[in-house]
Amino acid sequence: MRRAIFPGSFDPLTNGHLDIIKRSAPLFDEMIIAVLNNADKHPMFTVAERCDMIREVLPTVDTDGCKMLVESFSGLTADFAKQSGATAIVRGIRAVSDYEYELRMALMNRRLEPGIETVFLMAGEEYSYVSSTLMKQVFELGGRVEGLIPELVEQRMRSKSGNHR
Ligand code: ADP
Repeated sequence: MRRAIFPGSFDPLTNGHLDIIKRSAPLFDEMIIAVLNNADKHPMFTVAERCDMIREVLPTVDTDGCKMLVESFSGLTADFAKQSGATAIVRGIRAVSDYEYELRMALMNRRLEPGIETVFLMAGEEYSYVSSTLMKQVFELGGRVEGLIPELVEQRMRSKSGNHR
């Protein structure tokens, strides 16, 4: 049984995240989309709202027989991975700018839990500039984000901001 976690803020889920989920699915039997409960950030969606959106969108995605679970966690990613019985942490790399931070995190996580490897997948070219933060900024300024985030997420962003464009 090859189990991985895909940790992140997912505030909110984007098509870039879904792209990584689709790419990593054939590599594992089971994957936990792990939504970080990070008290430092000012999120648009609560952790429960983010988990619910991911759970609603996942059935529309071809995950190649890989069982998908959605869970929230707080604390160290390495601890959560260990407790979950995962042997891999999946992360996406969009550009060189992601690499430095991801390298530090991967090395630290390996030091904390030597039995768990970080697996990096390269973003799809069409989503390589997509981030949750950019999507929120563009949406809040009235820009179009169709095709870059799931429709359901866009609807939830509209109701959240009272923006019924
Ligand atoms: P975090 O705050 O942990 O970076 P994010 O939700 O922003 O959480 O990202 C979670 C993971 O998804 C990270 O590995 C990030 O690199 C990856 N990711 C985010 N957006 C994209 C994208 N457009 N394409 C590929 N990977 C992405």
